[in-house]
Amino acid sequence: MQDCKVIALCNQKGGVGKTTTTANLGVGLAMLGKKVLLIDADPQGDLTTCLGWPDQENLSVTLQTQMKKVIYDEPIDPNAGILHHTEGVDLIPSNIELSEMEMTLVTAMNREHTLATYVNEIKGNYDYVLIDCMPSLGMTTINALVAADSVIIPVQAQYLSAKGMTQLVKTINKVKRQIKPNLKIDGVLLTLADMRTNFAKVTSEFIKQNYSGVIPIYDTVIPIAIKAAETSAVGKSIYEYDKGSKVAEAYAQFSKEVLMDGEKQHHKAKSTFSR
Ligand code: ADP
Ligand code: MG
Repeated sequence: MQDCKVIALCNQKGGVGKTTTTANLGVGLAMLGKKVLLIDADPQGDLTTCLGWPDQENLSVTLQTQMKKVIYDEPIDPNAGILHHTEGVDLIPSNIELSEMEMTLVTAMNREHTLATYVNEIKGNYDYVLIDCMPSLGMTTINALVAADSVIIPVQAQYLSAKGMTQLVKTINKVKRQIKPNLKIDGVLLTLADMRTNFAKVTSEFIKQNYSGVIPIYDTVIPIAIKAAETSAVGKSIYEYDKGSKVAEAYAQFSKEVLMDGEKQHHKAKSTFSR
């Protein structure tokens, strides 16, 4: 597979739905027939837990093991440590040991490219690689941005932090200017929306007004629901845990949007190329 798309799910604010979105977008894309690898790039290991590996302390290979191999210039086995979820996605897990990476990266040669080097070794087996970022804009997150082709920004519909958003866009633009000129922001996904209120609309209006031309907003809005919160502990996607629910429908719809977006860009790139 040549056209793997690597997407970082990024927002330095915690609790905005990055992890939930990574898991359910991943499974959603797998349901649409795509081969998907999820990367847990948060030392809290929430994605690893939410996909059903809560005892992550005992995992022998994690993202940190593989990044260390890159740093120490050791050979990487692309299959090592990859976990297979019953719903058809693969996972590179993480645990608290990844928190050492912030410090280790500082002195590493090619420090911004460590994760990219690893991702480039394994992405040949996949159509999509989704990276679940931690809630900070430190070295590990910069590594995720450098490894990525594009970024999806989950934003909690009720609590858009204008300052936080500016900081995030600044960081993305800096990575773009200094390291990765073709890094793209695919869009903002409004999550945790209480459909009884108008906040999702207000938030999307705010983003449209303040970032018009810079950040598109996905049509799909993810509603808030208790069952969706429960999925972070049950090791299942929302499609399995609460089949037919509004959140399951929304994530299925969102997965289609992401897929179509990718295909549009692919055709565009092809037609530019053939001109
Ligand atoms: P982040 O990765 O940005 O910190 P999470 O995906 O972990 O965000 O979500 C934060 C919390 O909100 C978690 O407890 C999660 O289970 C819950 N949550 C996520 N999406 C929903 C939703 N649509 N409805 C209700 N709770 C949700
Ligand atoms: Mg998270």
